[in-house]
Amino acid sequence: MKKLVFATGNKDKMREIREIMADCAVEILSMKEAGIVTDIVEDGKTFEENALIKARAVAEHTDGIVLADDSGLEIDALNKEPGVYSARYMGEDTSYSIKNRNLIDRLEGVPKEKRTARFVCAIAAVLPDGQELVTRQTMEGYIGWEPEGENGFGYDPIFYLDEFGCSSAALSREQKNAISHRGKALRAMKELLKKYL
Ligand code: IMP
Repeated sequence: MKKLVFATGNKDKMREIREIMADCAVEILSMKEAGIVTDIVEDGKTFEENALIKARAVAEHTDGIVLADDSGLEIDALNKEPGVYSARYMGEDTSYSIKNRNLIDRLEGVPKEKRTARFVCAIAAVLPDGQELVTRQTMEGYIGWEPEGENGFGYDPIFYLDEFGCSSAALSREQKNAISHRGKALRAMKELLKKYL
């Protein structure tokens, strides 16, 4: 069976890719399971560049297919901040309750129609022959006035979805995976990869 390494140390991302690719004849391994340790500097200017940087770095250590993702939040009224710096915004060690409060404060006085935002996810694949594939998907919403919800992670409590009337932290895991940037980008990548599996 073909081997696919997902370049992440995140258990939730591993679970999601395993669920989405469950019907593919491919063995899915985390970097740890594949025994790959590498220090990657994500210095790309776009989500696509960062996903490719990660996938290429891990591809040097395996002859299997490598997948990597990069994601973040773009807020239109803040010039698309925090963008590719989403994880590093206000420092990696700053709690998300502080980051989320800061973003809400920066939007003080901004009306709903100008609070539009999106989560973006790019997935890159490097195939054993060196060929590269990239998918990019978004989940559109707006930044609310108060955090809400106990599910999800990161910026989910301030990211609201008109169609659900709540934040993405108030959705169940299944509901979010069905509409999320990452779920959609992974499913698009699965379609592209089908002919190589
Ligand atoms: P990375 O793609 O693992 O580097 O994550 C980038 C950062 O974007 C995360 O640390 C979160 O701050 C944010 N982010 C990406 N996707 C989501 C999401 O679905 N919900 C909340 N925050 C997210």
